[in-house]
Amino acid sequence: MNSVTVRVPAKVNLQLAVGPLREDGYHDLVNVFHAVSIFDEVTAAAETGVSVRVEGETAGQVPEDDDNLAVRAARALAGHAGRSYGVGLVIRKAIPVAGGMAGGSADAAAALVACNELWGLGLPLDDLLEIAADLGSDVPFALLGGTAVGTGRGERLTRLEVGGTFHWVFALADGGLSTGRVYAECDRLRAAGGERVARPRVSGALLAALRDGDAKTLGAEMANDLQPAAVTLRPSLARTLDAGRDLGALGALVSGSGPTCAFVADSEAHARELAAALTAEGVARDVVVAHGPVPGPTVV
Ligand code: ATP
Repeated sequence: MNSVTVRVPAKVNLQLAVGPLREDGYHDLVNVFHAVSIFDEVTAAAETGVSVRVEGETAGQVPEDDDNLAVRAARALAGHAGRSYGVGLVIRKAIPVAGGMAGGSADAAAALVACNELWGLGLPLDDLLEIAADLGSDVPFALLGGTAVGTGRGERLTRLEVGGTFHWVFALADGGLSTGRVYAECDRLRAAGGERVARPRVSGALLAALRDGDAKTLGAEMANDLQPAAVTLRPSLARTLDAGRDLGALGALVSGSGPTCAFVADSEAHARELAAALTAEGVARDVVVAHGPVPGPTVV
């Protein structure tokens, strides 16, 4: 086999509950991940060394060296196999960069799947999940796709049943937000407010809404503890969220650490209408319609 191409989806967090800061600098999380139909494509081709090239409008914002998460994933997989395999990776980026949609993690997951195939390793999903957990908290879910709840740092995953398809509108912002900065701002706001931070718990009402395919209840139950921090760092997000709600979204929230905003609609047609209205409001760099859940990395 000379090359393998894998298509991999972005994610939105339907619930992101952030516990107190732990001694090790991480937070305990309850993280309901949902894979949506915005895709990067990663091609892995046989080569002697390890290299990466990034294509697409946002390519300039993504490192093309060993800092690229897809390169780190390929090297970690070769290390696991105990061999010095080579690969030339090409990433076609559509997932917003530093947008709170786990694009880097998606590329890492795609690289694991593509190289596993290219190198003929035949490793089972469980082995890939173990390697993924070392690469970053969002990488295991990126391997799984669908909808799942993550606990711990978000890497201990349980798949969730979803009764149907949800229709989404994403408002993409100019420039990204650093995940680390958003967590730090969340801790700062909590300390300043003298808030006692509770242990994170998954919302039963949200799980029921997912199981029932009930977009209205999902919209009402979605919640992101990082949202106040993201909005403090990027005040224009308040206007974007308000605009979506005023235009009839069933629910609106910042995706992960932002700055992408997610709106749930009650049908595909409603999502298209909402996207057109949000575009006309001029509250986003770009507005994209998508659906979820979708499967994880798929060889194409
Ligand atoms: P999350 O939702 O997991 O917090 P994010 O969507 O906010 O992540 P990413 O797009 O994954 O953020 O990227 C964060 C940073 O990681 C980027 O600013 C970029 O410098 C770096 N990076 C490394 N590899 C990649 C990659 N393959 N794609 C995108 N960014 C990458």
